[in-house]
Amino acid sequence: MATIFDKIINKEIPAEIVFEDDLCLAFRDIAPQAPCHILLIPKKPIESMATVENSDKEILGHLMLKASEIAKDQGLSEEGFRLVANTNQYGGQSVYHLHFHILGGRQMTWPPG
Ligand code: 5GP
Repeated sequence: MATIFDKIINKEIPAEIVFEDDLCLAFRDIAPQAPCHILLIPKKPIESMATVENSDKEILGHLMLKASEIAKDQGLSEEGFRLVANTNQYGGQSVYHLHFHILGGRQMTWPPG
């Protein structure tokens, strides 16, 4: 099912893009929960971390490497950052297109709410 993120991928609605390649897109969250809050998504419409398959191994590895690179580019690596994939109802997922939140620029707490 198409989501708002497909429209961002297709440039039908604007987003502040910080990184893009053939496989993925990273853009600033519209409602930032930290001084730096970026969403990293595959262009392939995978629903969530609950539906990934063996054939997604390459894109998942790619996303993890890009998350690390983007965090570094944003100046988050040294002090630290949080990488989150809210998954399904209990995980608090609201958009059903796989996305990793890259959050940084402040002290995070644990446990999460
Ligand atoms: P989830 O709650 O599914 O883990 O995360 C979805 C995220 O997408 C939320 O943090 C929300 O603020 C963000 N979001 C929803 N719609 C838009 C949009 O149109 N543009 C951008 N940049 N972020 C969005």
